[in-house]
Amino acid sequence: MPELPEVETVRRGLERLVVGRRIERCRVLTAKSFSPGDGAVVEGAVVTGARRRAKLLALDLDNGLVLLVHLKMTGQLVVRGRESWGAGHPSDSLVDALPDRSTRVIFDLDDGSRLFFNDQRKFGWMRCLPAADAAELEFVKRLGPEPLDANPWPEFRRRARRHERAVVKAVILDQSVVAGIGNIYADEALWAARVHPSSRVADLSDRKLRAILDAARAVMEESIELGGSTDRNYVDAEGKRGAYLDFAKVFRREGQACPRCGGAIVKTRVAGRGTHLCPRCQRLRRASGPGSA
Ligand SMILES: [Zn+2]
Repeated sequence: MPELPEVETVRRGLERLVVGRRIERCRVLTAKSFSPGDGAVVEGAVVTGARRRAKLLALDLDNGLVLLVHLKMTGQLVVRGRESWGAGHPSDSLVDALPDRSTRVIFDLDDGSRLFFNDQRKFGWMRCLPAADAAELEFVKRLGPEPLDANPWPEFRRRARRHERAVVKAVILDQSVVAGIGNIYADEALWAARVHPSSRVADLSDRKLRAILDAARAVMEESIELGGSTDRNYVDAEGKRGAYLDFAKVFRREGQACPRCGGAIVKTRVAGRGTHLCPRCQRLRRASGPGSA
């Protein structure tokens, strides 16, 4: 599933290649992928901005509408024209001839290029609605601070401290505490901050909480630098995924050596999610409970 850095990579590509372009034609090939069903609502409109909130993308249009895009499990956006660019879910559709079987919506742009919304599993969506309504969407209003914003710490601290008894991994995955941290970045951030994923928030100092947030930011920024999962590092579907997940120190590296201490990385289950950690660097501490050291 594309995580926040991949979605930010998509946003930057849209900003570079689609903002400023007029949508001449919009063909909806799969009705459930585009609301309201008919692409005519965006035809003739100029794209004036590409924004992101958590993993939700928003293309601002000069006709008063906003086109929201959620990639969900397998969504990707691809531009073909003077330049070939694509990002999101890593699959052959990033590099193959388009449209293909995963193509759901095609936008013809005024510079002769085309924007393709591909989505193998059809959980992703595009939704066009008035700009004022987009800001009022309930799930957007509930979201916690953006980890990549200038100073998310005070708001993150306030929201995380409401869950003192919860395990920290569940708390940083909670989108109302901090927006856009998924399973990969949660594991990587906890490893970098040397915090066991099952630690209770109550047992973590502010310094440790802040270390987790800072680590999440750093890992995400590194991943964006590497291009997220884009056609630049995508190779093919035979197990070669280019630089995708190359940044990971523990995620999907069970049995391998921890790059910090050489101990074996293990996979376990925390907060209902597959969880990777180094038991040597990430000791479980119970500062507030019985038997605390
Ligand atoms: Zn270690």
